[in-house]
Amino acid sequence: MILEELLNNPPTPLQKLNNNFLNNSGIELFIKRLDLTHPEISGNKWFKLKYNLLEANKNKYDTLLTFGGAYSNHIYATAAAGKLFGFKTIGVIRGEEHLPLNPTLTFAKACGMRFTYLDRTFHRDKYNTKFLSSLKAKYGDFYLIPEGGTNSLAVQGCNEILDDINISFDYICTASGTGGTLAGLITGLKNNQTALGFSVLKGGDFLRNEIVNLLKMLKFTNNKNWQLITNYHFGGYAKITKELMGFISGFENQNGIRLEPIYSGKMLFGIYDMIKKDYFPKSSKIIALHNGGLQGLEGLKQKLNSRKIR
Ligand SMILES: *Cc1c(COP(=O)(O)O)cnc(C)c1O
Repeated sequence: MILEELLNNPPTPLQKLNNNFLNNSGIELFIKRLDLTHPEISGNKWFKLKYNLLEANKNKYDTLLTFGGAYSNHIYATAAAGKLFGFKTIGVIRGEEHLPLNPTLTFAKACGMRFTYLDRTFHRDKYNTKFLSSLKAKYGDFYLIPEGGTNSLAVQGCNEILDDINISFDYICTASGTGGTLAGLITGLKNNQTALGFSVLKGGDFLRNEIVNLLKMLKFTNNKNWQLITNYHFGGYAKITKELMGFISGFENQNGIRLEPIYSGKMLFGIYDMIKKDYFPKSSKIIALHNGGLQGLEGLKQKLNSRKIR
């Protein structure tokens, strides 16, 4: 694949959900199947990476370095993109090395990604100059993509998610980890449209500031038609409950669409709950982004077998 192909975002279906609950509510809910964007660079990760890859290439970097957890969709997508477009990749992984590698890291390694593990001091030290210089000494110069892939080029890419949506809608929803995708959507809204981000982190309120800062970096005057919803985190990042898993399997059975419980499952649970609580005006048209992430399910199953769910 050549890098310029990134400029043409693959079209994906917009699928209307039909079930009694929705029909009785008078709400129209659509799923934007970004999970089908690319088999390995799925969902929002395509849009977050594209201008970063073009920028790295323009500045003649041959190596990408980024950060993430051991099950990270961003690590998986970056490794795949490196292989497809001819970049070496380095993943700075939060935590200790666990062998055998989980399915996410096994895939990344097969794509050629090399790993450095950063344990307890990950949050404090990952962007620390001393740490980064030690990485440069070891691997040579690299193009740095922040954890979760969010920077202003990522936001610019996520704006383009809206290009392939050709119905008029009232709300567009995404699950939010760093808020980069939400920021991108905000920059593309029409006046009468609202973007909702569902924080998958506990105490996600800090994300509002991050989003405002991203919008400022792009010189985008912060219009007010967006909200961060912070009460559907289910205990925190990657925390899962039986109720959530029950919702996801019911959703799959009814609609034939697989979800993972870290992001899209929590967002859709939230949307259904907010419909029940009459948050949305009657006959609202809502679009929910399916940002993929199904790669993580295999590793998640293994992890769940080794610990209890509340
Ligand atoms: C990365 C990811 C998100 C979070 O996107 P942000 O831009 O960090 O808010 C949401 N859903 C899925 C499936 C993801 O992989």
